[in-house]
Amino acid sequence: MSDIARQLKAIREELPQGVVLVAVSKTKSEAAIMEAYGAGQRVFGENKVQELVAKHETLPGDIEWHMIGHLQRNKVKYLIGFVSLIHGVDSLRLLQEIDKRARGAGRVVDCLLQVHIAEEETKFGFDAPELLAHLEEGTFDAFKNVRIRGLMGMATFTDDTERVRREFRSLKTLYDRLQETWPGVDILSMGMSGDYPIAVEEGSTMVRIGSSIFGARNQA
Ligand SMILES: *Cc1c(COP(=O)(O)O)cnc(C)c1O
Repeated sequence: MSDIARQLKAIREELPQGVVLVAVSKTKSEAAIMEAYGAGQRVFGENKVQELVAKHETLPGDIEWHMIGHLQRNKVKYLIGFVSLIHGVDSLRLLQEIDKRARGAGRVVDCLLQVHIAEEETKFGFDAPELLAHLEEGTFDAFKNVRIRGLMGMATFTDDTERVRREFRSLKTLYDRLQETWPGVDILSMGMSGDYPIAVEEGSTMVRIGSSIFGARNQA
């Protein structure tokens, strides 16, 4: 068995039933992806549109491609025809563009709203009060060609596991609120190689794992 197949198997065995594993294949070769595919993996995540499109075009058609990175509005059109789930919807303007392009493509596209949970500064993601206000005001009712399936978040990159746990817990609380108010919410995307065991303990239903499957990435 290859390293990739072995690592994939070990992680799958560790994950509780019902937690979906997204194999994050960014920067990895098609050969590496095909090793994971050969071991039964069908859900892959990429964070760059160009790379996602190129891999979609050459790799098997039954792969579900997830866009996990920051998505620029002017690039939505390139992935709208085939993407299975967009994890990083971090603004209303992006949601609007996805809705418009999805309508043009005759699709209803599954999306996760990205929430800013890390204590460290980042420009991406809704914050919790903002999201609750949008729900209250029915802002999302307007989008008929997107299906909001849940939330995605990234914890602070730190050894302080209590802090990571606190951040995941805050996202889970918000997810529970969303589930009460919005129909069809069933995905909480949290957890990466370094923190997925904590994320799963805190209620994650989808983990995005790259380096623990494929090995470390070379820095660009
Ligand atoms: C790269 C990436 C991952 C996977 O990271 P690993 O630490 O390699 O598991 C997960 N989520 C997002 C949004 C990423 O960009």
